[in-house]
Amino acid sequence: MDLNFTDAEEAFRAEARAWLEANVPHGLPSGDTREGFDLHVEWEKKLFDARWSVVSWPEEYGGRGATLWEWLIFEEEYYRAGAPQRVTQNGIFLLAPTIFEFGTDAQKSRFLPAMAAADDLWCQGWSEPDAGSDLAGIKSRAVRDDAAGGWRISGQKTWTTRGAFCNWLFGLFRTDPEAERHKGMTYLMVPLDADGVTVRGVGRLDGDEGFAEVFFDDVFVADDLVLGEVDQGWGVAMATTSSERGLTLRSPGRFCAAADRLVDLWKRRSALAASGDPAAVAAGDPALREDVAQSWIDAEAYRLATLADVTGIVEGRPQGARSSLTKIFWSELDVRLHETALALLGPSAELVDDSPSAVDGGAWMKGYQFSLSGPIYAGTNEIQRNVVAERVLGLPRK
Ligand SMILES: Cc1cc2nc3c(=O)[nH]c(=O)nc-3n(C[C@H](O)[C@H](O)[C@H](O)COP(=O)(O)OP(=O)(O)OC[C@H]3O[C@@H](n4cnc5c(N)ncnc54)[C@H](O)[C@@H]3O)c2cc1C
Repeated sequence: MDLNFTDAEEAFRAEARAWLEANVPHGLPSGDTREGFDLHVEWEKKLFDARWSVVSWPEEYGGRGATLWEWLIFEEEYYRAGAPQRVTQNGIFLLAPTIFEFGTDAQKSRFLPAMAAADDLWCQGWSEPDAGSDLAGIKSRAVRDDAAGGWRISGQKTWTTRGAFCNWLFGLFRTDPEAERHKGMTYLMVPLDADGVTVRGVGRLDGDEGFAEVFFDDVFVADDLVLGEVDQGWGVAMATTSSERGLTLRSPGRFCAAADRLVDLWKRRSALAASGDPAAVAAGDPALREDVAQSWIDAEAYRLATLADVTGIVEGRPQGARSSLTKIFWSELDVRLHETALALLGPSAELVDDSPSAVDGGAWMKGYQFSLSGPIYAGTNEIQRNVVAERVLGLPRK
């Protein structure tokens, strides 16, 4: 593995950095609120217009045909510039790789450009009230309608991130109730404005309204909205969930930028402590200084592990179950990093949002609250540990 970037890659970095520095919006409200979501979509459209929205995609779909390395460089620069989380991420990072792998040419032309342009906004429909970790236990069903040339779906999905703001949902539906648990499911793409769809927002603990429950009452979905083969949806879904756990959704740029901000926070708090400010006294604690260093080291370790993964992918070795390993690592790193930030801030960590004394606008507490969900979403870490035990370490099932 060569850790040096080429001159062309460094030129790509410089171009991305210059554009991002000139254009990144700062201080947007949370993308998990109605108002914030719309502003984030405006940003997404600006990215698309400048062809930075999906850099690694072919030009015909709105990309630059960039390599995986250049994509990683762009991600580093994106988060380094303090740019907001991508509200298009379910589409561009999760569904799109699955469409590239399993979609027909017609599906690629229909969905990829609209996704890149943030015209189609996608949410994920896996979880159901009795099927979270046990995804094979889904009950929402799709019944064949030969006359109409499609499927009629009924059931309920839950914990659908930003479902209340999106116009499309992808997910699994049971198409053969007689089949074994992991079979007889089909991957469908569903327009949320179709007759029979009801979307109900669900408030989150942090006050944002980002979740939704989605109900389907005899909703018609045409055959051209089936991704992959009928009844073979499990394999298609595994491609999507692997993207969520691994490379595409959690590129290291995000954690490296957070670790850099943590180091900067520590420096600022140390300077305050040195000037005798009692509010910053925690920054003088040597154990906390070590925690700051450890977070930075962990983020760098994740970056290096990702570079090794990309080397493997480029050389034709798929990530496979390694994405479960990285998922555990990034989610636990994110929690520790934010816990360290809160410890540095001491009592002032609780000042958030509109408090004029909130440090960094209260972003650390907000980030901490969200980090707590990392070990749960994208498949809980307990489940990922089972996967690592069985498929990476080859241990027997218990
Ligand atoms: C922020 C956030 C965003 C989300 N976004 C989406 C979304 O957009 N779309 C979507 O479909 N879902 C989404 N989810 C739901 C998420 O995928 C589920 O919460 C997750 O898969 C766990 O399912 P569950 O909540 O039903 O918990 P359960 O499956 O009931 O699990 C409860 C506990 O039991 C443990 N457990 C269960 N089975 C086993 C086992 N076999 N071995 C060991 N431990 C086990 C789990 O690890 C967990 O700790 C989101 C969740 C969060 C927190």
